[in-house]
Amino acid sequence: MEPKQVFRAYEGAEAQPAAFCLKCGAGLSDREDGGRTRRACASCGFVHYTGPAAAVAVLVVGGNRILLCRRRADVLEGGKWCLPCGYVEYDEDYLTAAHREVQEETGLAVEIRGIISVCSNFLRPDVHTVVTVLVAQPIGGEPTPGDDIELVRWFPSAGALPDMAFEADRHIITRFFASRLEGAPVDRQHARRNWS
Ligand SMILES: [Zn+2]
Repeated sequence: MEPKQVFRAYEGAEAQPAAFCLKCGAGLSDREDGGRTRRACASCGFVHYTGPAAAVAVLVVGGNRILLCRRRADVLEGGKWCLPCGYVEYDEDYLTAAHREVQEETGLAVEIRGIISVCSNFLRPDVHTVVTVLVAQPIGGEPTPGDDIELVRWFPSAGALPDMAFEADRHIITRFFASRLEGAPVDRQHARRNWS
């Protein structure tokens, strides 16, 4: 199965341009900068560089089963299923973010075993993520939904997947079990979070 790492749920429109300066509050206008048009502040000169958000998704694998989460009705792609996932906070490394997201959404402690893929996800004009996809095994806890997840369940790798929220998740799960990906090794110090 060929790898796929760029996923587009829409074509065209960009994120709404920022209106006000984050530094001084003055209005922003377009400025040519290195061959691109960027939003810049006429008052303080601050250039507002925008980029996709860093996120993580985790294949939590137990034997021939994979852990999936059903998303709460009021969030993006609500009612559909996804891998445990979320944004990397500014003060976090991505491995810490992965441990935190899995714990918050599924109640499980995990050991991260490898880096499986990195995906660009153009989900909506205002939601563009670059997602590091990790594989992990459970080392403690019981599946318990939390945060914006309403149900957590193990699914057999051989069976049909439920209605998935993101094409990227469906692709990587299928590819993982078809190719038995091991991935790149991860930083041992951060692969396993110490749970007290
Ligand atoms: Zn400014």
